[in-house]
Amino acid sequence: MPHTDDPLPRWACTNCGFWQPYFATPPDCPVCTDYRHPLPRAGWDFVSEGEAAGRFETTWREVLPDVWTFETAPALGIGPLGWILRTEHGNVSWEGAGWTSDAALDQVEALGGVRFLSGSHAHVFGSWWRVAERFEPEVVVQSAALPFAQALAVSWPFGAEAELAPGLRLLWTGGHTAGHSVLHWEARRLVFCGDAFKFRLDADGRATHVSTHKAYDAHIPLSHDDARAYRALFAGLDFDGVVTPWEAVPTGGKAAVLSLLDAQLAGRPSADWHEIPGGPLPAPPRL
Ligand SMILES: [Zn+2]
Ligand SMILES: [Zn+2]
Repeated sequence: MPHTDDPLPRWACTNCGFWQPYFATPPDCPVCTDYRHPLPRAGWDFVSEGEAAGRFETTWREVLPDVWTFETAPALGIGPLGWILRTEHGNVSWEGAGWTSDAALDQVEALGGVRFLSGSHAHVFGSWWRVAERFEPEVVVQSAALPFAQALAVSWPFGAEAELAPGLRLLWTGGHTAGHSVLHWEARRLVFCGDAFKFRLDADGRATHVSTHKAYDAHIPLSHDDARAYRALFAGLDFDGVVTPWEAVPTGGKAAVLSLLDAQLAGRPSADWHEIPGGPLPAPPRL
């Protein structure tokens, strides 16, 4: 349930896309002032909910069976996608599009609404609060990410993991950010990995390279300890597909990310691209 019937106005930073509640135009953006993101060169530019509704549109499509994406045009900030997973335990809203229009919310309703809402970390939370306010789901957030979740009413903070339902778990990874988490959907053998990994796709949508970072823009690698923790966690999960905030790699993803992490641990960790052994991985099917 909302904190109050009269929530504070929400504002989006057009440099990164992070939304925050504030009583007036915010003085700064906590994501952009963090070392991982570049500051806007020309100063702050925030948009209100009403301005965003007039400036941005949202489109949607099914990218894997029962996995829908919502995308904002033009991009708001870094332009993450919002994801709806139609699971056997109810729908999960994961990450958030920069702006989620009323029409997009109607589409989410047509897909069955939302039972659980979560996201990997603040860089890709987008306008998840719009989805939370419409459907009033369980809002499940890793404890260290709570300072970045003030735009919504968190009902379920968690530490190492949160089992939403059998075979549907949120797992804390740390590494990229202190509260970074991933979602494991065991029945579909998928991991929604947030910014733990990034894939490079060829012109046909096939993944050719994979990388991992402490900071993407600043090109800072993980530490050895981060890479070791990722390796232990991902090696212990049963999955084949990997879904980032931007791209879906339906098969071969586990082998690719373990190969990357083995390379990170074999020497000094690197933020450079790692070529996926065995050649490009198949693109998602056309649905
Ligand atoms: Zn920002
Ligand atoms: Zn990130």
